[in-house]
Amino acid sequence: MTQRFDSIIVGAGQAGPPLAGRLTGAGQRVALVERKLIGGTCVNNGCIPTKTLVASAHAAHVARRGGEYGIGTGAVSVDMAKVKARKDGVMLNDRKAVEDWLESMDGCTVFRGHARFEDAHTLRVGDQLLQADRIFLNVGGRAVAPDIPGLADVEFLTNVSILELDTLPEHLVIVGGSYIALEFAQMYRRFGAKVTVVERGPRLASREDEDVSVSIREILEAEGIDVVVNADDVRLIKRDNGFGGFGGFELTPSAGAATIAGSHLLLAVGRKPNTGDLGLDAAGVQTDARGYIVVDDQLKTNVDHIWALGDCNGKGAFTHTSYNDFEIVAANLLDGDSRRVSDRILTYALYIDPPLGRAGMTVAQVRASGRKALVGKRPMTKVGRAVEKGETQGFMKIVVDADTHQILGAAILGVGGDEVIHAILDVMSAKAPYTTLSRTMHIHPTVSELVPTMLQEMEPLA
Ligand SMILES: Cc1cc2nc3c(=O)[nH]c(=O)nc-3n(C[C@H](O)[C@H](O)[C@H](O)COP(=O)(O)OP(=O)(O)OC[C@H]3O[C@@H](n4cnc5c(N)ncnc54)[C@H](O)[C@@H]3O)c2cc1C
Repeated sequence: MTQRFDSIIVGAGQAGPPLAGRLTGAGQRVALVERKLIGGTCVNNGCIPTKTLVASAHAAHVARRGGEYGIGTGAVSVDMAKVKARKDGVMLNDRKAVEDWLESMDGCTVFRGHARFEDAHTLRVGDQLLQADRIFLNVGGRAVAPDIPGLADVEFLTNVSILELDTLPEHLVIVGGSYIALEFAQMYRRFGAKVTVVERGPRLASREDEDVSVSIREILEAEGIDVVVNADDVRLIKRDNGFGGFGGFELTPSAGAATIAGSHLLLAVGRKPNTGDLGLDAAGVQTDARGYIVVDDQLKTNVDHIWALGDCNGKGAFTHTSYNDFEIVAANLLDGDSRRVSDRILTYALYIDPPLGRAGMTVAQVRASGRKALVGKRPMTKVGRAVEKGETQGFMKIVVDADTHQILGAAILGVGGDEVIHAILDVMSAKAPYTTLSRTMHIHPTVSELVPTMLQEMEPLA
């Protein structure tokens, strides 16, 4: 028998549950379908578990540095089983909060299973058929397994399986040099593992400006992480290495390069959308060459009553972009407010320690655009609060349009960078001139108080 709803939401990630809340609040009957874990990637194997682990790793790091602050801690040990238990506790609490919310939501029925289109208004979940006037896809993405010679013979970890480790790898080799890779690299080094990062390109975090990449590499190498770049021909051979335990291996990064003997291999080379098994053809929904669902500025697909939100639409790859997608769809459908994706400013953080907070364009992008610009830069060694905290790695940088005086972009790589960036982001969002920020009195002593100073000392972009 076919069950009828006003709306069907596929995926209980970062957009699906709040959208169910708004739609049911408006009196709709909503079916929400989830095939795995309520909360999706962020809650179960993305942001929340990783940032909880980053916090444990930070505690170990601070304890080891205690002597620099006149604090004796004795030998520092890391109990991986307890680290994992803390992570599981935070993650499970979060998942349960979303589950409880959905279960108590009047008008919302949660279906557990894989949803697939039968036609443009009908989805099959197991032996049940669900039909609705409107359908919202929030199916997220998953880690890509690259085509590496020898990989089929070697056990490897992804961002999902590494979260199940409760022992310390002897030598964790990470293929990939972007956000997920670098966060795991630093945390496992701080837990006590030997760590090597193997990156295909010439530098880490390659989407950032070169000075940001260089500084990130220095921060990681200073903690004893080995970084191998230009690994353009990675090959793997299964080998015992005497490490025992997991599946030992040897990795050759490029032709003629020295091999790396590892105990654990983490692949963090990108993600792809969960769109291949949704039956999109049956609904006539278009995807692009990489499988992302094609949407317009208000997140509608080419089929008038179907929307796609979150990582699966290729318009963002973050929890905040997925949540913002929900806000855009809800505003358009329920509030008569025509919010659009193009209204938002790119922003994100890289949670190594110290973190990188980013907003808007890089300096390289501004230079390529050909516009006249002003650039300000200040090392964290010249930020009083960072000196007092003994955390002076990194720098802050900002780029401003020389004609309009609007801020085009910023990178804060340093203590508090993930928070400080918001002062800049909000001024960008208000489309106010940089002088709004440079003339605002900030609290002393903070990292944020040097943002106005940096803006007062800008120079023309060469
Ligand atoms: C290790 C890691 C760390 C990260 N850290 C951060 C961070 O610090 N900050 C940040 O902003 N972002 C971070 N991200 C990215 C963030 O987790 C994702 O951008 C976000 O979770 C995407 O949410 P979503 O709503 O698009 O989909 P998801 O959260 O992926 O949810 C999609 C859901 O749909 C379900 N589903 C898929 N197909 C079907 C189907 N056919 N039927 C039924 N259900 C289906 C899936 O099971 C899943 O539960 C991180 C990601 C990873 C992997």
